[in-house]
Amino acid sequence: MTLSPDSPEATAPLPYGRQSVDDDDIAAVTAVLSGDWLTTGPAVQRFEADLAEWAGGVPTVAVTSGTAALHVAYAAAGVGPGDEVVTTPMTFVATAATACLLGAKVVFADVTPDTANLDPSAVAAALSPRTRVVSAVDYAGHPAELDVLGAMATAHGALLLDDASHSIGSTWRGVPVGALADLTTFSFYPTKNVTTAEGGAVAARDPRLLARARSFRNHGLVREPDEQRTPDEGGWHQEVHELGLNYRLPDVLCALGSSQLRRLGHFKRRRAAIVERYREGLHDLDGVLLPTQRPEADPIWHLFALQVLEGRRRALYEHLRCRRIGAQVNFLPVHWHPVFADMGYRRGSCPVAEEFYRRQLSLPLWPDLRDDQVDRVIGEVRHFFGAD
Ligand SMILES: *Cc1c(COP(=O)(O)O)cnc(C)c1O
Repeated sequence: MTLSPDSPEATAPLPYGRQSVDDDDIAAVTAVLSGDWLTTGPAVQRFEADLAEWAGGVPTVAVTSGTAALHVAYAAAGVGPGDEVVTTPMTFVATAATACLLGAKVVFADVTPDTANLDPSAVAAALSPRTRVVSAVDYAGHPAELDVLGAMATAHGALLLDDASHSIGSTWRGVPVGALADLTTFSFYPTKNVTTAEGGAVAARDPRLLARARSFRNHGLVREPDEQRTPDEGGWHQEVHELGLNYRLPDVLCALGSSQLRRLGHFKRRRAAIVERYREGLHDLDGVLLPTQRPEADPIWHLFALQVLEGRRRALYEHLRCRRIGAQVNFLPVHWHPVFADMGYRRGSCPVAEEFYRRQLSLPLWPDLRDDQVDRVIGEVRHFFGAD
């Protein structure tokens, strides 16, 4: 289809990310809606098994959001007052907020300038005897140095958590995300690589961590008589040994998730093709740096994260927004949020992440984005730099 430049289609607003939902997804959801189980039924176990296949066989627990997944994972790790959690400031606030809500102290370590992922040498400097968890983020879908970080955490008696909200389907040295950390969390928000509308999951290698995650998701309720303190109470009896919450992902949404996972391979290839088109269209511009890919990584790209040089990020953002191109900034360094500033965290403490933020701009990237729409974005970026 060719579009004239002033047809409404040619200027349809382009968000930075959006879901791809097809007829199979809709059929999967409606089939569950007319069945017996809307929640806590067989679609949940099926989705967890489907996810585990993408996570290198590591078992998973489905929950109601990526934020819930982080909360569950930290709770499973036993994070609490007196503990420290070392993490990156180049993430969505939830990676740190959930640890804070459990009473832990968050210690921010700086990132590397190429991938914006945790810098292992900065993590080494941030570790202390109180560190319980090191939380990496696979920024934009590119895995962090999870093998190195895992070894560092283990040597310190800490656990490695991978916030893989961006990276389900990525590998590092051939190992899938999900199998690269003690605990891995996923988000299925509509802009992410797979969606359940709202949803998330935790993958855990250690069966004890997995059991604690399952328990926290469902109020800590114990139903197995041989695990109960007073099993003779009666057939109805359930008891709580550790506090938890209701973070159960319903069958309706799990069915959508299983259907989406069947297309994750396609999503990965289409996202890679769009990234390649952006690279070809923008590589000669002096005013921007394009995303780096380390040789060990086979990423599924969640974001196309440009770095805009010479202080022109805001101007390019506004140029694109005026032309209905929904460029986005990912992310405000977490310690810059007023809630962290009020706790005493200071600007300047993670200079690499802060400089990355000042330059960062995400261009539209989602599987159903058409080549002509990608070309329109490339054309507008080139126009901004006077390179058309
Ligand atoms: C989206 C996101 C989250 C939170 O996931 P929700 O499903 O929106 O709660 C956490 N961490 C990162 C890095 C994210 O991008």
